[in-house]
Amino acid sequence: MMDFSYSDNQQMIRDSVRRYAEAELLPQYKRWDTTGEWLTKDFMDKLIDMGLLRLRLPEKYGGQGYSFVDCGIVCEEIGRCDHNIRYIISNAIHLGEMASSMAPELQEEWIPRIANGEMMSLAFTEPRGGADAGNITTKAVKDGDHYIITGEKTSITFCGVSKVVFVSARTGGPGPKGLSFFLVPTDLPGVTAAPFERMGQRIDRAGSFFFDNVRVPARNMIGAENQGFIWAMTIIGYNRNFVPLACIGAAQKSLDETIEYVKIRQVMGRSLSKWQGVANELAMEATKLEAARMLCYSALSLKDKGLRHDKESSMAKWWGVKAANEVLYTCMRLHGHYGWAKEFPFEQRLRDCLGMESADGPREVHLGIIARDLLGKEFAPF
Ligand SMILES: Cc1cc2nc3c(=O)[nH]c(=O)nc-3n(C[C@H](O)[C@H](O)[C@H](O)COP(=O)(O)OP(=O)(O)OC[C@H]3O[C@@H](n4cnc5c(N)ncnc54)[C@H](O)[C@@H]3O)c2cc1C
Repeated sequence: MMDFSYSDNQQMIRDSVRRYAEAELLPQYKRWDTTGEWLTKDFMDKLIDMGLLRLRLPEKYGGQGYSFVDCGIVCEEIGRCDHNIRYIISNAIHLGEMASSMAPELQEEWIPRIANGEMMSLAFTEPRGGADAGNITTKAVKDGDHYIITGEKTSITFCGVSKVVFVSARTGGPGPKGLSFFLVPTDLPGVTAAPFERMGQRIDRAGSFFFDNVRVPARNMIGAENQGFIWAMTIIGYNRNFVPLACIGAAQKSLDETIEYVKIRQVMGRSLSKWQGVANELAMEATKLEAARMLCYSALSLKDKGLRHDKESSMAKWWGVKAANEVLYTCMRLHGHYGWAKEFPFEQRLRDCLGMESADGPREVHLGIIARDLLGKEFAPF
């Protein structure tokens, strides 16, 4: 028997995160975008106090034992009020998943720091391409009990503010089976961060990391040598559901607001909602969001059961982000010139969520993963 409802506990998670996000995130959403300020201490303290940076950390670091579905609910609710804060929460979830593969000294240093609001980055993408993340050129060469890392990563979220970056680097032959994964503190000699501006997500301080002969202790390798990329992709594959869920949250919030708006906005003598073209559009957009949400939660429930979810997560990623962006665009359009105005959140939500088409892999990569499952590796494009 399939159960599509939230448990009592999940309902409680949803309600408490929604209350927090409405009170603390929504009022500041535009501020970070327009002023370019970094998140204040008070803002971060509240995020930490809510326990949102400890959802899946090991118990001894205050982990809360959330399931992946529970974490998805958090991402969706956060996305309703500030899509960009989802990154901070999901990074802390990734750290929890990586923890058991980290040397004890690294766990002791970095888990409390990230749980207390310091930023981290994950760096796969390079200037010559991100979709083909198994064919990168950053290299790590063994030198006694150290590795020396040289290369460049780009489009890295939180580049300008991260204290630590997890870097994929080549330690073996060509292709994904020659890559390892390293924890690199950003204050090590030879690490330079160069943030740049993007269309949306101003708070993410994205940019390029340059690694110029950076010496890291061999124990900073996470997972086994030459298995780092495959390990990282497997272990954080669930993120392909968190990304769309935050967009779905932003789109659902916009749709809720639009539903109220079309009831009161008068056009040609009647409520906008009384025009069937408008009512149908709302109905279609609500359907899309519900279907996208189901894809995400069903993939996360496979992950919770320890089952394969790569095809399902790819379906959720490409279609969920696309559906959410279409809904955001419709909501902006139905608000007429107000939708376009900076005073309202619609344009910012759309700018913020459009980037999610690329983040965590463009749709063509995810369609390729689905096609490989359908056709078999022998007949698939890759
Ligand atoms: C908001 C945002 C946040 C990001 N954060 C991070 C981060 O923290 N860490 C990180 O490592 N990276 C990050 N990225 C980078 C992201 O992972 C890459 O943008 C993505 O992997 C695609 O790589 P690329 O941009 O180099 O595009 P390319 O690899 O150059 O591809 C360009 C386009 O070609 C098409 N394409 C690619 N492959 C295929 C194919 N096989 N078949 C058909 N068409 C194809 C797609 O349309 C794709 O958009 C972020 C990106 C964005 C926008």
